[in-house]
Parts: sequence; structure tokens; C-alpha cells
Amino acid sequence: MNGGPPNEYHTQPSATASAEPRKRRSRQPATRKRRRPNLTPTENGSMPGKYGPYTLANASAAVMAMPVHDPKPVDISKRRTLDPHGNPLRTRRFGVMELDDSYPSTPDNFMNLKGLSPELTCVRSCDWTDQPCGLFIEMDKTSIDGHLWYWHGLKTTATPCQFEGCEDTEDMKHWGCHIEGVHFETSYQCAYCNRHLSRGDSLSRHLRGCKPFAASKERAPRGAYQQANIKLVQGYIVPAVSAT
Ligand SMILES: [Zn+2]
Ligand SMILES: [Zn+2]
Ligand SMILES: [Zn+2]
Repeated sequence: MNGGPPNEYHTQPSATASAEPRKRRSRQPATRKRRRPNLTPTENGSMPGKYGPYTLANASAAVMAMPVHDPKPVDISKRRTLDPHGNPLRTRRFGVMELDDSYPSTPDNFMNLKGLSPELTCVRSCDWTDQPCGLFIEMDKTSIDGHLWYWHGLKTTATPCQFEGCEDTEDMKHWGCHIEGVHFETSYQCAYCNRHLSRGDSLSRHLRGCKPFAASKERAPRGAYQQANIKLVQGYIVPAVSAT
């Protein structure tokens, strides 16, 4: 989808968050950690999901509902309708956008977008050209990897990137990293010296030599230090709760 430029949105942890001892955020009781979706459809055919009901992917749909931001809907007539296990793929709707939330998720899936209110999430369209899915992906590596596995059947890492306009012809090893950094333009900022870095691993390397970071760590009570990471994302901000 190449509609207008996405709304730009930068997330940052709140200023106080970094100084506080690490708090375990458990949005779900531990027993539900490995949540499997409840596959019993309700009367109207939708299924319970993390933030709202799923609807079954419509096998006969040729285009997705047109988002207000996107005048050029993707032709999804060839898209997969079954998951790798042969079950129907499920999606949930985010307002006018159809967002994939059907892959197995990890408990911290959405916690990367610190600073964004829990009612909101940030998505970008998937521009995978082999069997276009017409979906939006949430902005973290786990979601991206899960999406590619689930919707595009990416089983092996030994394949080049199929994102539209991708100039990287090498076989890909770190899909989440590549798509997040190259196609979704996610970047990172050192919370201690404000230096911008394009990738999470370069931020980690940078921190090893960052003097303000070392000084901040020094001042913190023993064992209570939490590193502040600033992840800069750009995309559509949509309600994290299904709006339909
Ligand atoms: Zn896709
Ligand atoms: Zn690529
Ligand atoms: Zn720094």
C-alpha cells in the first residue's frame, strides 16, 4: 500500500520510567501466558481475541475495506486463507484497517511501544508481494516474524525479502530486524546522550561506551537499574481495541 505518508509518531518512555525499578507488567495472569485462541465462534461468526473479536478471513474478498488514509487498496484475491496447520486464518479489524493478530504471540508483544497509551497501537501495511495479504502489522520484531510465518508461509530464512521495492537480494536471516529497520523505518535513540541509531543492536553496542549511560547506572541503587530505551516508530496509530 503506497497511500500517503503514514502519520509520524514517536514513542518514548516517560521520563520517570527509567529511574524506577523494573516492574513486571503482567497484563494476563501467568496461567494464560501461552494463550491459545478460543476457537468457538460466537453467534455472528466472530471469535474472541486479545483486544476484540476476530473475523474469519473472507476467501472471496478481492480488496480490503478501504482505509480512509489509503486510496489504493491492495489486491488480495490470491491471499492465503489457511494457516500453516490448515486452519482458517483469522484477523481482527482495527477501525478501517484489517490488522493481523492471529499468529501466536508472546506476552510482551506489544510492550515495545512504551509511551504509547495502551489503548493505541502503531501499525504499518505489509507490502509483501508474494500473495499480498492486505493487512497491517504491529511494529515489533515478534509481530513481524509471526506475520511472515503465518500469512506468507515463510518457513525458511533462506529466501530473499519480497517486500515491494526491496533492494536487498541476499537471503535474509533476521526478518523482524530487516523489515522493522529497512521497511518500517524504526530507529532508536540513546536515552542518555540522545544519539540516534538505526538498529537495536547498534544501540546496545553504543551503550557499552556511552559515558552518560555509565554515569546514570552508577548512581542507581544496586540491582534497581532499568535501562531506558527509546524506540522511534512511524506508522498509523490505531485503537488497540477492535472498533467494529
Ligand atoms: Zn503480509
Ligand atoms: Zn526487504
Ligand atoms: Zn548514549
